[in-house]
Amino acid sequence: MSTETKTTKRARRPFAVRNSKIHGRGVFATDKIPKGTRLIEYTGEIITWKIADRRYADDGERGFHTFLFDIDGKKVIDAAVGGNASRWINHGCAPNCQAIGEGDKIFIESIRAIKPGDELVYDYGFVFQERHTPELKARYRCLCGAKACRGTMVAKKK
Ligand SMILES: [Zn+2]
Repeated sequence: MSTETKTTKRARRPFAVRNSKIHGRGVFATDKIPKGTRLIEYTGEIITWKIADRRYADDGERGFHTFLFDIDGKKVIDAAVGGNASRWINHGCAPNCQAIGEGDKIFIESIRAIKPGDELVYDYGFVFQERHTPELKARYRCLCGAKACRGTMVAKKK
């Protein structure tokens, strides 16, 4: 009986979806998470950007509420279709997680030790073909609250 409980506990995911101060819903550690832990795969339907742009064409303002994760500039994962808790992980400018690409798969991994109650965040680092204007940055405004917050989810252009 007790071993069974232990096994169940170990198999349980160390995070849960809750309301977030950053934006809408977020994902929070419910247990200690060591650095370098592969937490979850960013699942969804793999489609081309062409299809994604058509699918969300009249989304306008709501643009970033879609659950799109760029794979390679051509393909994208749409977590609105078949997505899991990973789609609720918010952007943060001082991230405790990062997204790792492996072929067409994306995994979210911790990059430092995370305490129970901490919100899981990774740097979305959006890059656009168009110029990164103040307007564009404002459209993807960041409210992560980190000291190092750059005020936007848009990456610095190299
Ligand atoms: Zn920020």
